[in-house]
Parts: sequence; C-alpha cells; structure tokens
Amino acid sequence: MKSTILGYPRIGNKRELKKACEAFWAGKIDETALLQTGAEIKKQNWLLQEELGLDLIPSNDFSFYDQVLDTCLMVGCIPTRYKNIAENNFLELYFAMARGLQKEDIDVTAMEMTKWFDTNYHYIVPEFEKGQTFEFFSKKIINEYTEALELGVKTKPVLVGPVTFLLLGKEKEAGFHRLDLLSELLPVYLEIIQELTNLGVEYIQFDEPCLALNLNYKEQQAIKSTYEQINTKFPKLKIYLANYFDCYGDNLEIALQLPVDTLHLDLVRCPLQLDDILESKHFNPSTKLSLGLINGRNVWKNNFEASLKIIEKASSKIPLDNLWISASCSLLHTPYDLDLETNLPSEIKQWLAFAKQKLNEIIALKNLSLPENDAYLFLFEENKLANLTRKKSKLIHNQNVKERIANLEDSDSHRASNFKVRQTKQKHALNLPLYPTTTIGSFPQTKEVRSWRLKHKKGLLSQTEYDALIAKEIEASIHFQEDIGLDVLVHGEFERNDMVEYFGEKLNGFVFSDFGWVQSYGSRCVKPPILFGDVSRNKPMTVKWSSYAQSLTNKPLKGMLTGPVTILQWSFVRDDQPRKITCNQIALAIRDEVVDLEKHGLKVIQIDEPAIREGLPLRKEDWANYLNWAVKAFRISASGVKDETQIHTHMCYSEFNDIIASIADMDADVITIETSRSEMELLDAFVNFKYPNEIGPGVYDIHSPRVPTLDEIEQLLIKAKNVLPKEHIWVNPDCGLKTRNWPETKKALENIVKAANNLRKLETELV
Ligand code: GLN
Ligand code: ZN
Repeated sequence: MKSTILGYPRIGNKRELKKACEAFWAGKIDETALLQTGAEIKKQNWLLQEELGLDLIPSNDFSFYDQVLDTCLMVGCIPTRYKNIAENNFLELYFAMARGLQKEDIDVTAMEMTKWFDTNYHYIVPEFEKGQTFEFFSKKIINEYTEALELGVKTKPVLVGPVTFLLLGKEKEAGFHRLDLLSELLPVYLEIIQELTNLGVEYIQFDEPCLALNLNYKEQQAIKSTYEQINTKFPKLKIYLANYFDCYGDNLEIALQLPVDTLHLDLVRCPLQLDDILESKHFNPSTKLSLGLINGRNVWKNNFEASLKIIEKASSKIPLDNLWISASCSLLHTPYDLDLETNLPSEIKQWLAFAKQKLNEIIALKNLSLPENDAYLFLFEENKLANLTRKKSKLIHNQNVKERIANLEDSDSHRASNFKVRQTKQKHALNLPLYPTTTIGSFPQTKEVRSWRLKHKKGLLSQTEYDALIAKEIEASIHFQEDIGLDVLVHGEFERNDMVEYFGEKLNGFVFSDFGWVQSYGSRCVKPPILFGDVSRNKPMTVKWSSYAQSLTNKPLKGMLTGPVTILQWSFVRDDQPRKITCNQIALAIRDEVVDLEKHGLKVIQIDEPAIREGLPLRKEDWANYLNWAVKAFRISASGVKDETQIHTHMCYSEFNDIIASIADMDADVITIETSRSEMELLDAFVNFKYPNEIGPGVYDIHSPRVPTLDEIEQLLIKAKNVLPKEHIWVNPDCGLKTRNWPETKKALENIVKAANNLRKLETELV
C-alpha cells in the first residue's frame, strides 16, 4: 500500500505565482524573479509532500500558465503565427501563446481557451495545422525532474497523454483529423520517455481524462496502440495511467487490457467502478490500482470509515502492495491550506480539508489500512467525530427548508399560463416598442466603485455613506439609460462584487474563506463560496436597490438575480445530499426574491444562468437526468409570479445546439445570449429549433474594448430579423458591462439604441 497524488495546486499559498506573473507582464519584475517564484513554489510543494510522508510525489504538475500549453511547447506544437518570437525568447513565446502579444512589429492573438472537462479551470486549446509536425521542444519536464532530484525528491513526472492532448485540440484548417497526427506525435513522446528513463525515472503519470468521455472505436484504438507501443519500447517503465472526473464507462474493457503498471480510478465520481473492475474477466490482478478516494474537486473532509471499506474490498482481491491511495484527480482544483483560515466558524472549519489536509488524509488512510495500524487509530476516531458532528450539526439542518422541498409540487415549476398567453398580457402591461432594447445587468465597475466597497468593508465608510454613494451611482445610470433611450432599464449592479458571492453572502447556508483560491486560468483565481448547509433566505436581497432604481423612472426596470444552477455550479457544494436537492433549495430562495421583487413593483426580472451548460455531465448518457433537474430548478425559481411579470434569463459562453430543447423548456419569457463574436452563428440552434419564446441575440462583444459601429450592429440585427419572428427580437449586448469603461459603454449603447430605432423605421416604411 502506497500513497500518491496526481498533482498539487501551483498558484502558491497566498497566490504568489499570480502576483509574480502579473508583475512580470507589467514589466515590474524580470524573468529571473519570476522563475525564482516558480522554483520556490515547486520546492515548497515537493518538500511538503515529502515531509508529510507521501510515497510518490509528482513533478511537472507545476505550470506558469497551464499544463496543456506546457504540453504544446513540450511537443513543439507552436502555431505558425508565433514562429518569429520563438527564436529569441522562450517566456515571451510562452506568454504570447497564452495571452497574445502586441509590441513593436509583433501583433499576435492568443490561443483559444476553454474549460477543462467539467471544471472551472480553463486550458489553452492546442492548434493543429495541415502537415503538423512535432519535436521535443521545451525541456520543462526534464528540468523539473532534475530540480526535484537535486532537492532529494525522486518524482513521478506527469504529462498530458498524447490521445487526450490531440482530442482536446482543434484542427485550424480542413483536410485532416487531429487523431491522425498520433503517428507524428507518438515518436516525440517516446523520445521524451527515453530521456526521462535515462535519468532514472521509474514512474511516469500519463493523464488521459479523455477516457471519461464517450470515445468512438478509433479513439479507443488510439489509446490501446499508444500504450502498447510505449510498453513495447520501454518494458521496464511503470506507466501510471490516470483517468478522472468520471468512470471509464465503456472504455473500461480497453483500459483493463492496457499494459500499464497502474490504473487510476476516480472513486468519488464513480464509486461503483471498483466492483465492475474486480469482477471483470479482463482484470489482471497484477495491474496496480490507484484508488482515488479523496475528493480533489471539493473541500470536505473524507469519510474514513467509508473509504476504508472500499480499500478493504479492493484488498480482498488485490495484494496490498498493488494498491495506491490517492485523490480522485489533481488537487489543482482545491484551495491550498485550511490552516491559513482564521475567520471561518470553528464548527464548520473542522469539517473541511483543503489540499494540504487532503495530503494528510491520503497518508492517514494508507496507514490505517496497514495491518499494524494501532498507532493511527486516533486519526480514525478524529475523522469519525468530525463527520458525526457535521451530520448532526444545527448549522446545517433547517427543518422548514426540508419541508418546503418535500412539499414541492409540479405546479411550483409552472407559470400560470403558457407563453403565448403571457406574451399578450406582458405586451399590454409593459407597452414596449418593436425590437425593445435592454442591457444584461451590470454597468462599469470603476476603480471608484470598487474602492467604496473596499473602504466599506474595512470600516472606513459607514453603511449610510456607502449606501449614499451607491444610490447616486444608480441614479446617474438611470438618467443615462433614459437619455440614450433604452427601453428596459437596469440598476447597474454597483453594489455587487461577484454575481454568486453577492447572493452567497446574503443567503443562509454559505460561508466564505479568506484564502480559498483556486486557479481558473493563467493568473486568474476564483474563491468559490462554501455551501455547507440548507439554503434559505431571511430577508429580501435585492429589493432595496431594484425598487429604488424603479422609483426613479417610468420605464420598466429589470430586477437582477443569479439563478440556482449558476450559484450551485460556482460554489463548493455539500456532499451529504444530491446536488439536485441543494439546487432546489437555492431555487426556492431565489423564488422568494422574485416574488418580493414583483410585490415591490418590478415588472421585469432577470434570472441569470450563464453556468447551466457547463454543469453538463461528461458522458452523454447522464445529460438527460442533469438537464431535467437543472431546468426544473430554474423553473421553480421563476414560476412564483403572475403572467404579466416578464421573466428574462441570460446565458453566455455557450454552445446551444445540443441542449436547445432544455433551454426552451426553461420557459423564460425572454432569453438574452452571447452571439456577436460568432456573428450570430450561435443563434442557429435557436432558429433551427424554432425557439418559441422571445430572444435577445447579443450585438456587442463586451469582451473587447472595441465599440461596435452602427452599421455592424444593424447588420447583425438584420441577420437576426431574417431568421426570427420580429415580435420576438430584443436588442442588447452579449453580456454585462462591468469590465468595460464608461466612454466605451456609452458609445456602444448609443449605437445599439440607434440601430434598433433604424430597424423600427424600416419596419414602418415597409408597411
Ligand atoms: N447580470 C450579470 C452582469 O451583467 C450577468 C453576468 C454573466 O452573465 N456572467 O454582469
Ligand atoms: Zn453573460
């Protein structure tokens, strides 16, 4: 029995890497200082794991930006547009690929970025060109191995496996399939393995999380032939094959027959697969199993009792020597160290484990499953007690909430009338023109606005002073919106830090850490709220500012809420009940808010659900179940109002094609979506499906400082008008404007209003 992990967080205990990278990009520190910070973090990580007693420690799990980008550089997969940077400066090339580069005569865009499986971590998407070749280019993996060795730590180098690497990438031109590049790529991997084994490397961890997806025959065969070839060439190499985030599913038979030393199982996401394996006729008992028992995606203490039962089951068929204890996936997705937290309620803190504590759990489980475990039994008792107090805690359980969930009826997720009936009533109640204009909610979060919040938090601004500043900002934004002639106004979200945090702070059932950061992409980190207990709402959360804003105008003002699925998706959620139930609890709290907003005179209410698509399970066979409860939770939140009240929802960064039926099922009266960057391409799904309700395809790419011209907006709208019924079309930006500045925002919104006016004119001329 041995212990290992797949990877450790690398942003630094107190986000040192983030700070160093950002300082380097701003020209405030030089390359040596940046590399020094990296070296420090690696050293700390390795020595910590060594000190705690982990048997096999990973290397090359560090990255200055992203491990997939590192892999691109490792195998020399560098798009042509970066070629002239390549010659003079490695770090410049590296960050140019990650972030784009504009200097002197160089002007190159960044590579695309997308979500790493179902996490909130974003990787750089490899780009493949026709005639793509590979070479062993960046020696980072070698350097990190020797770096650790010099510190006395013999590591297991980690790399993204060749099949996953290819599948995660994109062909930049037609005429080939990326998987066909395997025959070009594999020799480079073999060369890398050769160099590593020359240095005495015993284990290499190949991450192939594509095994958690539905693979076709060709993809499965690619896995098979890759590891057969590696094994043939390096029969002594111990291949540690890691799949995570879901079951092996129908790839299991292939996986079990691979000539690998160790097969890693994510037993958190897929607890039953151990039984399948132990019973499979393909299972070779000399294959080692790595039991991913500790949750690498969440912050709760493990349940030792349950884990030890699983270990016992495994060891009934497999010699202890052939078992590893590990975390389900890399600990990259958990915060660093719970010991840094001084402000969490102590009762709740004792239920938690961040990355460092998870290392201890792995080692404790290993020790507890050894035959001579007496010296460790106290750890078992401690863990049992912590879990017991959590289970029974008054902080978690709220009988009212549980009863409301139990008493939910089908009618709670249905509006009183169908869309057509509601549409007529809303037209009457709101009296909007054709092509109504609106925005998505937030207005620029200027330095000033953020400084008020900070000062207020530090006690330098009293509640009254802070409120007065926010009120003035809202007032100015209402005047601005009226002046330029928008039809449905918003209050601007000046009082909000983040769209989930704001609600988490007001709802019961959430706590916030001080240092619970996890990497989202590059130097960007997020600090997800910790949803620990039954969720409920004590009092209105947004009514004050929304109704204040409404009182300043005769135009309809849109109340602004974050939806239940997005709050769930962007938090660390409890693991002691199904996500579906937690989501319904949030939905009920949001429903109460929606009803209160209506009561206070708001006729339009938006419930944002930008994260609904990213909650999709990795395997298609699990989609229907998820979509079912996610859509229902949204509907619960939206269905407490009368027909006249118009419910909007908003989504961004989404491909809609494969989930369009579910989006229609959400039955929002209006949906606003991001479409401008794709020139309305993302609208196709709605058009092909004949989306029944109203829709606002974004006409302004808010990710760019560029102000769209009147002509551009008109062209986009004409595209939309050609494919959608005109009575269904809204005119709005792609998303909220909080990252933009006021001058851009003003010009862009003026153009939007003008474009809508011009379109209306065109319409009356036609009549
Ligand atoms: N209402 C939010 C805003 O405007 C929506 C943000 C989002 O979709 N991510 O900022
Ligand atoms: Zn958005």
